[in-house]
This record gives sequence, structure tokens and C-alpha cells, in this order.
Amino acid sequence: MILLDGKLASSSVKETLKKEVEIITANNKRAPHLVAILIGNNGASETYVASKIRSCKEVGFTSTLIRFDDTVEENILLQKIIELNNNDEIDGILVQLPLPKHINETTVIQTIHPDKDVDGFHPINAGKLVQGLPTLIPATPYGVMLLFDYFNIDTKGKHAVIIGRSNIVGRPLSILLSSNLLHGNSTVTLCHSSTKNLKELCLQADIVVAAIGKPEFVTAEMVKQGAVVIDVGITRVDDATKKSGYRLKGDVKFDEVATKASAITPVPGGVGLMTIAGLLKNTLQVYKMKMIN
Ligand code: NAD
Repeated sequence: MILLDGKLASSSVKETLKKEVEIITANNKRAPHLVAILIGNNGASETYVASKIRSCKEVGFTSTLIRFDDTVEENILLQKIIELNNNDEIDGILVQLPLPKHINETTVIQTIHPDKDVDGFHPINAGKLVQGLPTLIPATPYGVMLLFDYFNIDTKGKHAVIIGRSNIVGRPLSILLSSNLLHGNSTVTLCHSSTKNLKELCLQADIVVAAIGKPEFVTAEMVKQGAVVIDVGITRVDDATKKSGYRLKGDVKFDEVATKASAITPVPGGVGLMTIAGLLKNTLQVYKMKMIN
């Protein structure tokens, strides 16, 4: 069984990015600049954003964290995004989700300029992805593809069953895996909360991707011998033995599924780290497009 170690794969991506940035700055050009907007004090969001900012530093990007109180009015947030859209010194903008209930997520996503949308959530970028045009790929599915690339996972002609159809994970990953790409060309079944016979479908899968948000949902009896298993899920569960009071759990019952899988991602240390790698790659892509044009 191969452990699809996100630390190894993301370090390799970051090393390459770091070298590219060194060449850029050695030529007296500014470094790529990512701005992250964080609203409120959601513990998980704080952790994710801190990790994104830290990773920017590791590869030599400039990063800025803009914080708003969770009572911020939507129009104040939108004005800030427009200001960042118009600032030529800023390449990527991300707004950490989820947002407080009074702020409309769709409006926020659509306000970020598609050329700076390093999370790849804007409908223009999503549309380009569907049509196979160059675009900014949502960071998590991009990270999964980078993981397949690093570990040379053969996806061609394989049956991939993806559980979860969200716009940020399952749906875009279904498009990538079914596209005519090096690590695509799979036959994809996209499952969701109304899917019948989920277990039977999963048992037919050469590749199972779990992106549901339900800890240990995928058990060994749902997975075929030799399948590749990608666990996107991250849920905080109470754990009094931990200093933080919680630990992270994936959507896959790792210990038992690992005995059947040919390759599997751990949680933590799997797709989460690859998501950041995808985000960093998108930021450099935006920077390069701007500097060339
Ligand atoms: P979401 O809540 O938007 O979507 C969940 C999906 O699961 C839905 O499409 C729903 O139809 C499906 N689902 C729910 N119950 C189901 C069931 N019983 N059977 C089949 N399908 C079912 O979630 P999301 O934003 O896509 O996130 C999913 C998980 O991935 C969460 O744990 C989230 O924290 C995690 N996540 C991780 C990363 C990362 O970087 N590793 C990035 C994004 C999300």
C-alpha cells in the first residue's frame, strides 16, 4: 500500500515554486502577492488561513491577511474586494469560506475578478474548466491532480467514484478526472446525498474520492481490493486527550480501508496540504499572466 503523503508531494511543488520566485526576484521584479480575507474567528478558518500565509512565506510570495469582524456589512467587504481587484500589485485574492450568514457567498465569489480568483470559484473560471479552456482550477481538486501527478497514479480508463458534488471539491474534480488530461481520462460517477446503492457503486470503483464532511463514512466494506482512496474530508472531533481539545478526522475509516487500498491519503497530511499547493500554483499563474501581458 502506498501512503499518498501530501507532505512529500506538496513540498516538491513548493520547492519548484520557490526556485521560480527566486529567479523572478533576482531579476528585480516584485514577488507574487496573495491577499487572504478572513471574516470572524472560526477556529478551522483561522488554521487554514494561517497555513496559507505561512506557505506563501515559504515559497517567497508576498502575502497580506485582511481581517473583518463577523458583523462586517456585506458592502464593506465587497468594496474591499473591488479595491483589491483594482490594485495591480495584488495577484491573487481569496475569501476564506464559510462566511457569516448575513453575507451572500455567491455575491462575494462573483465580486472577485476572475483573473485574480485563485480559489477558482468564479462562474467564469468554472465555465472554462467545463469547456477544457485554460483557467484557475479550484485549489482542492487541483491539489488532488497534483497528488496523482507526484505519485504517478494511473487514472486513464479507470472508474472513479466521487462522493460529494460541491462546487469547490466534488463537481470540479469530476470534470478534471473525466477530461482528456494526463491524470484524467477516467470514467466518473459523481455521487451525492440522493444517490442510491452508494456501496455498490463504490465497490465498482478503481478510485474512490470522499468529499462529504462525515467522519469515517467510507468503510472497508465499501472499497474494492486495490482501489486508490482519496480522502478530502476534514472534520474536527472532540478529543480530550489533545491540548487543542479536538483532532481531525477524514471521511474514510483509514485503518480498515488502508488494508484493502493500493494507495490512500492520510488525514491530516494528505489533500489539505495539496490544496495549499494548488492555491500557490494558481497565484504564480496569475502573476505570470499579468507580467507577460
Ligand atoms: P459540502 O457540504 O458542500 O458537500 C458535501 C457533499 O456530500 C454534498 O454534495 C452532499 O450531497 C454529499 N453528501 C452528504 N451526505 C451524503 C451521503 N450520505 N451520501 C452521499 N453523499 C453525501 O462539503 P464540501 O465543502 O465539498 O466539503 C466536504 C468535506 O471536505 C468537508 O469535510 C470539508 O471540510 C472538506 N474539505 C477539505 C478540503 C481540503 O483541503 N482537504 C477542502 C475543502 C473541503
